[in-house]
Amino acid sequence: MGFISQSALKIRAAYAEFDAEQRFTVPGVRVTDPKAAQCGEVLKGVLKPAQCKLFGRECTPEQPIGALMVSSEGSCAAYYNYEHRKPIAIANAAMS
Ligand code: SF4
Repeated sequence: MGFISQSALKIRAAYAEFDAEQRFTVPGVRVTDPKAAQCGEVLKGVLKPAQCKLFGRECTPEQPIGALMVSSEGSCAAYYNYEHRKPIAIANAAMS
């Protein structure tokens, strides 16, 4: 999705002893998806998961690229596991 400046949750000063950023040297950690990933658009509802260029090819539940494919509850993983395979399931049902 990209970096959103001036955003994020922080641990209150009263709990600073539990704050890893206070206790350890943590350089600015930013994790970004590859440029071809369109997770942000899928999250915003601009694209359906299967409209992402990587869906079902480079990005699958077995080898996820974007966060939405990692968890089985992620929108892309759910779409892949259920919606994406509907035509296959319907074709298989018709053959049996
Ligand atoms: S999780 Fe994968 S398929 Fe889904 S939008 Fe991100 S890169 Fe595309």
